[in-house]
Amino acid sequence: MRWALIGASTIARQYMVGAIRAGHGEISHVLSASAERAGTFAAAHHIPNFGSDLEEILADPDIDAVYISTTNEKHLSQAFAAVKAVKHVLCEKPLALTLEDAVAMVRAADEAGVVFATNHHLRCSGSHRAVRALIASGRIGRVLSLRLHHAVHLPPHLQGWRINAPDAGGGVIPDITVHDADVARFLLGEDPVAVVAQMASSGLGEGVEDSAMSVWTMPSGAMVMSHESFTHPFAGSGLEVHGTDGSIFARDVMTQNPIGLVDLVTASGREAIEFEKHDLYEEGVRRFHAAVAGEGEPAATGLDGVKSLAVALAVRDAAIRGVRVDVNYGGLV
Ligand code: NDP
Repeated sequence: MRWALIGASTIARQYMVGAIRAGHGEISHVLSASAERAGTFAAAHHIPNFGSDLEEILADPDIDAVYISTTNEKHLSQAFAAVKAVKHVLCEKPLALTLEDAVAMVRAADEAGVVFATNHHLRCSGSHRAVRALIASGRIGRVLSLRLHHAVHLPPHLQGWRINAPDAGGGVIPDITVHDADVARFLLGEDPVAVVAQMASSGLGEGVEDSAMSVWTMPSGAMVMSHESFTHPFAGSGLEVHGTDGSIFARDVMTQNPIGLVDLVTASGREAIEFEKHDLYEEGVRRFHAAVAGEGEPAATGLDGVKSLAVALAVRDAAIRGVRVDVNYGGLV
């Protein structure tokens, strides 16, 4: 697989260059809006070609796939261009700024017959898979509630557009609530139907929210409580799933790294649950490569990206209007 990186981003530098290469993918191009930044990135990561002209890069017939990790408002046009050039697409979350745009991206990829995936890394982690397996095994009985704790401190090097650029898709809801929506869907196997929410600017956000709390109604009747923030240095992350016969406590698992602890508590006592500690992004790339080879689906599909965005948009809408909002999935099922 030959890849082009669309975006000389932090996530590409920190995780995805290594993940693609670990999966025996070759990175042949990197694109940046600034040719100079593209050149610096290419030199640092030994990428042979770089540039600032997307059409020119996509014209290379040897490129099989693109990884899009620019700021959120650029995903739409770049994904459309890649699909038009018949390249497979791994796109960062949120797929787009609006539901209509995300749906259009996924439909275009379907029509072109290319694989389209969303880089929701948490469902690739051993910890989340272990929690999901426990739920599916019936060990905690009927699920009553899920609490998602994802209030972190946004490190200074990521405090640019995320905290001050609504037009670029800034704010904690497009940044982190989308991940939590994907986690809830992955763990419980059902899609939120309605949400209530509040949001705040608690020290970092300039024109965008930096904190949000919301409660989601699930079709089964289970309740989901979700907390995201950029301003909580010591809160730690995690999730809890409570059922009629037991509870699961997973600590430090809303992260980019294969860490954390998972405990099961039932009438028999507390049990530490072992799980695989593989790299989350490498697993996502492995599943993407397999999907391109015709073996199964990506870890998170385009539809998963549409649905996580739909929930996040409903949360923001509910917080703005102060009402319960039904989640609109844009006609995709
Ligand atoms: P960055 O801010 O690092 O990069 C985003 C864009 O900003 C880059 O594509 C680049 O544009 C531009 N940029 C980077 N450095 C500079 C600079 N020094 N001066 C001017 N512009 C610069 O963002 P992230 O890597 O944090 O996020 C990128 C995308 O990835 C987002 O969609 C985000 O939501 C997603 N993401 C996903 C994660 C996950 O786990 N799935 C984790 C982190 C982010 P250009 O390419 O034109 O040079």
